[in-house]
Amino acid sequence: MKLAVIGDPIKHSLSPVVHGAILEQLKLTHEYQKIQVKKGELERFLRFALEENLSGFNLTMPHKIDIFPYLEDIDEEARRFGAVNTVRVSNGKFYGYNTDADGYALALKQAGRSFAGKRIILLGAGGVARTLALKAGFSGADQIWILNRTASAAEEICQDVIRETGVKAVAADMDRETMRQVCCGGELLINATPLGMEGVTANFSDFSFLDSLSQDSVVSDLIYHPEKTLLLKQAEDRGLSVFNGLGMLVFQAMLADEIYTGKAIDKEGIFSKVCDIVKNG
Ligand code: NAP
Repeated sequence: MKLAVIGDPIKHSLSPVVHGAILEQLKLTHEYQKIQVKKGELERFLRFALEENLSGFNLTMPHKIDIFPYLEDIDEEARRFGAVNTVRVSNGKFYGYNTDADGYALALKQAGRSFAGKRIILLGAGGVARTLALKAGFSGADQIWILNRTASAAEEICQDVIRETGVKAVAADMDRETMRQVCCGGELLINATPLGMEGVTANFSDFSFLDSLSQDSVVSDLIYHPEKTLLLKQAEDRGLSVFNGLGMLVFQAMLADEIYTGKAIDKEGIFSKVCDIVKNG
C-alpha cells in the first residue's frame, strides 16, 4: 500500500512515524511518503497520486479546504466540518474524509469523558478549534465558549456552531478577567492554540483561569511536544485531570488507516505500542 502526507510546511510532520507504527502493528507492507505540496500545487500532486498508484493520502495546511473541488464524494462529517484531512483513492477518483474530530473524541473517551451535556471552553479559533467546536455541538454539548486573540475568528465559529448544531456558542476575549469568568463551571477546557508548544516562545501569561473550572473537569492540550505543557502541569497541580494531543494524533491516524485499508483496527489494543514508537521516533 502506497500512502503519503502532503502540506506546506511538511518537514516536521510526524505522520510517517505514526502511520508507520500503526501499519507495522497490523503487519501491512507499506510506503508512506512526506511530500511538500505548496498552495496552488494540488492538481499537480493529484496527477502524481494517480501515476504512483497511491491508495490514499493525508492532508495538512494549506490543503484541507482547497481539496474539495477535486473530490468525487465527501464523507458527511468532513462536509459538515468543511475540512478534509484524509483522501482515499479508488479507481482513479478521490474520496474525502475528516478523522480529526473523531480522533479527538476517541482520546476524550479514553480519558473517560465525552462532550455530551458539558460546558466546553475552547482556547483558539483556528481550523482544529472549528472542527472540535462543531463536533462538540453535534455530540450534544450544553454550551461552547470560544476564546481567541482575534475576536472575529471566534465569533465566526460560534455563528457556524449555532447555525449547524443549535447549541449555544459564545465568543470571548482571552484577557485574564474574561478567562476567569468564562471558566466558571467549565467542565472541559481544550487548548487549540500553539501556546506552550516546543519552539514557540509565547505562553499563557497567567493560569488563574484554571481555578474557576469545576473540580472534576478535564483540561486537554492538542500539543504533544512537550509531552506535558505548562498548561497541563498547572492544571495537574490543581488536581484536575489532563491529557495531551498524542491521543488525538494517533487515533485520527488509525481512523485514516481504517479508511485506506477498509478494515477495522483494534485501536485500543495497539494504542500504547504506537504511542511508545511515536514518542521514541
Ligand atoms: P491554526 O489554524 O493556525 O490556529 C491557531 C490558533 O491559535 C488561532 O486561533 C490563533 O489566534 C491562536 N494563536 C496563535 N498564536 C497565538 C498566540 N501567540 N497567542 C494567542 N493565540 C494564538 O492552527 P490549528 O491547525 O487549528 O492548530 C491548533 C493547535 O492544535 C496547534 O498547536 C497544533 O499543533 C495543534 N494540533 C494538534 C493535532 C493533534 O493531532 N494533536 C492536530 C492538529 C493540530 P488568531 O486567530 O488570533 O491568530
